Amino acid sequence: MDPILAVVIFIVGLVFGSFLNVCISRIPRGLSVIAPRSFCPNCTRPIAARDNIPVISWILLRRRCRSCGHAISLSYPMVELLTAILFVACYASFGQTRMALKASILCFLLVGLIFMDAETGLLPAEFTYPGIALGLLLARTIPVDASGTDFLMREFGVRSTFSLSATSFLDALIAALFGAAFFFLAWAGYYLVRKRDGVGFGDIAMMAMVGTLLGLKLTLLVVFLAPVMASLYALTLFVRPPVPAGEPRPTSFLVREVPFGVFLGISALISLFLGQGIWRWYLSLFL
Ligand SMILES: [Zn+2]
Repeated sequence: MDPILAVVIFIVGLVFGSFLNVCISRIPRGLSVIAPRSFCPNCTRPIAARDNIPVISWILLRRRCRSCGHAISLSYPMVELLTAILFVACYASFGQTRMALKASILCFLLVGLIFMDAETGLLPAEFTYPGIALGLLLARTIPVDASGTDFLMREFGVRSTFSLSATSFLDALIAALFGAAFFFLAWAGYYLVRKRDGVGFGDIAMMAMVGTLLGLKLTLLVVFLAPVMASLYALTLFVRPPVPAGEPRPTSFLVREVPFGVFLGISALISLFLGQGIWRWYLSLFL
């Protein structure tokens, strides 16, 4: 790993994280991410360029707006730092390759979706749909790990004459359909039983996006991890201190208060960086 390149990637990550902050605060409200320029959400005065430097401005301004003194949320520097760290992690994991670039795109989309879901409960199509298109487009030139599809074809006795790029595209497509179908069935089952939404269509689109960018093998891990993490989180809602009198207690697992996209996003990040290792460990239990 070249330390100078790592620093450059870190700074690029901060800049992309800063743009993500604009997306996170505007897209769920239906506002443009291009115009107007950055403004304080409290006093709506424009933010000067010197006050808009990722992380540094937040520290120098002592977490307050220069005009009105309103507190600036911790989530701004968090998004910037997280994006920068993940970009460097992509470089560290995949080297100076096109795969590192593709992994960075996935991280960018995931951080945006995680924070939008946590803050607004929305997973906007402005992120998920282009993510699906990009995943399918990139699957041909920057192949996914298509060993899941290879395995299926062997099991079903299909003699593959596909090229590497065609197999990768097929794998990305199967992963998206499988992931989406899995959560669609979960949603439909839950809806039939409870007459209420458990996972939403935003979650299903996000799962399809993750599928096209990760491929079937790593997507299987996400499909397993995300509900486990969401359920563990839901359990902590039960063991929390008593709810003040008069307020309703959460009574069900998949209440919408559990931001499922957050766990989907974290699971996808785990699968991106640790998925191959987790699969090797899992398979070693049986081989
Ligand atoms: Zn202000």
